[in-house]
Amino acid sequence: RYVKLNTNESPFPPSPRVLDALSREAIAHLNLYPDPLAKTLRETIAQEYGVTPEQVFVSNGSDDVLGFAFMAYADQTRGVTIPEVSYGFYQVYAQRYQIHPTVVPLNADFTLPVEKFMEQNQLVAFANPNAPTSLAMPLRDVERSVASNPGGVVRVDEAYVDYGGETSIPLLARYPNLLIVRTYSKSRSLAGGRLGYALAAPALIDDLNRMKNTFNPYSVNSLTMVAGIEAMRDRAYFDACVASTCKQRAVSAAELRSLGFRVLDS
Ligand SMILES: *Cc1c(COP(=O)(O)O)cnc(C)c1O
Repeated sequence: RYVKLNTNESPFPPSPRVLDALSREAIAHLNLYPDPLAKTLRETIAQEYGVTPEQVFVSNGSDDVLGFAFMAYADQTRGVTIPEVSYGFYQVYAQRYQIHPTVVPLNADFTLPVEKFMEQNQLVAFANPNAPTSLAMPLRDVERSVASNPGGVVRVDEAYVDYGGETSIPLLARYPNLLIVRTYSKSRSLAGGRLGYALAAPALIDDLNRMKNTFNPYSVNSLTMVAGIEAMRDRAYFDACVASTCKQRAVSAAELRSLGFRVLDS
């Protein structure tokens, strides 16, 4: 009776390759612990995005990854700079870890004022594209933030990048302080699998592993790893799902505009 939209899950099931791979044989291996290093999954993600496996961290959903980043790069003395309107968990984590947040209001047109995310020299955390505004920051502005903040990590949450944003991956080769966080929950149709990852220089990935192994050393489970590998490999299905969502977005925006709503350029 109801259509639930608040958490932006994919309306599409996981790739058919995921369904095939979660076979009786995969399930039969549940007597064994999963690979704590998630080697094959990390290699698969690395290959897809043209980075090395040492530049990939995986964990149980990107919220989990975000939590480790807050623990690693901010504390009572080093704060975090976040947008006033963004993914709600950033403020929740800041509170939970007693991190002082520098909260930056959006511009009148709902874009992020990039200057306010420059020269912070503490953790800087935003989503690109931002949520729930849906607006993206151009790559050159992300780079201005990263380049001007050598004393802090800039953490870019790319949960929605596949729907039309510009990824910051090309900056990874030049900036040791850039941390990109991504999720399988939206464009990869695996919200129930709880799988997220980070891409960054190996030193930052080591930091996240140290945090994880200290505080919350729970590996990604074996079935989710299998699902994550196959979902990443099935580029055709991924492309089709993303294209369909983008098409429906245009239809929905046009309908909303015809009803008199103001709709941002998602
Ligand atoms: C959905 C979402 C997440 C959380 O993803 P999980 O991997 O399911 O924890 C993180 N950031 C943003 C901006 C999101 O929209």
